[in-house]
Amino acid sequence: MQILSNVSAFLLFNHKTAGTDENPPFPVRIEAMGINDKRVLLFDIDGTLLDPADEGVVCLRRALEDVYGVTGPIEVYDMAGKTDWQIVTDLMTLAGLDPDAIESRRLDAFTAYARHVEIAAASFRMRILPGIQTLLDRLAAEEEFILGLVTGNVREAVPHKLRAVGIDPGLFRFGAFGSEHIDRNTLPALALYRLGQMLGEAIPPERALVIGDTPRDVACARHAGLKVLSVATGRYDRQALSVHHPDYLMDDLSEVKELLKILKEF
Ligand SMILES: [Mg+2]
Repeated sequence: MQILSNVSAFLLFNHKTAGTDENPPFPVRIEAMGINDKRVLLFDIDGTLLDPADEGVVCLRRALEDVYGVTGPIEVYDMAGKTDWQIVTDLMTLAGLDPDAIESRRLDAFTAYARHVEIAAASFRMRILPGIQTLLDRLAAEEEFILGLVTGNVREAVPHKLRAVGIDPGLFRFGAFGSEHIDRNTLPALALYRLGQMLGEAIPPERALVIGDTPRDVACARHAGLKVLSVATGRYDRQALSVHHPDYLMDDLSEVKELLKILKEF
């Protein structure tokens, strides 16, 4: 299992050298069990697995200054649940840059952001959220679950953020990221497509659950026809999330026994 985990971590975080989704560098099969024996959990990161404090904002400000020379109204802009692609585009539009100027340097901005996250990670004040380590350890030990990421984060920044709070990025075998599409609503389907390619069979929507802390997590799950568990550990409290009608709603992810019941039955 450890070898397989390392293979998937390689695929997830070294995609530049790992070939394309359609043309992987070597055949990958995670295991023999069919997808109908599995439950696929698509975790958001910020506000769900960890409290990012404002470390990401600081790193993004540095990246925007490096690449565009301006930051836009970064202090007041609401980033919750948005992709980094959307955040960069919105902030630079609000700063007065024209679309071509923004787009031509977007990948440079992502690269600069990931570099600043990597540099700053050792001194981050981010912290893992209550119960997450226990939960991930438990889920990783059960063959029934396949863990993935659906996050607005730039892909290359993710392992640094996760390691900064003690989470092993290799626990997550696949994912879709905020550097891959501007619209978060497209990310769950992209993630499940990738898992389907890895497993050699399509993932039925009823086998997958989105877990996230914002209304945008609910929206992206619905867009893909997936159920969603909302957790009030980010900027939105229980009441603010309930009006978006998630299938499940929890104060935090620390009640592992109660949570496992949901994750085995959704
Ligand atoms: Mg979030």
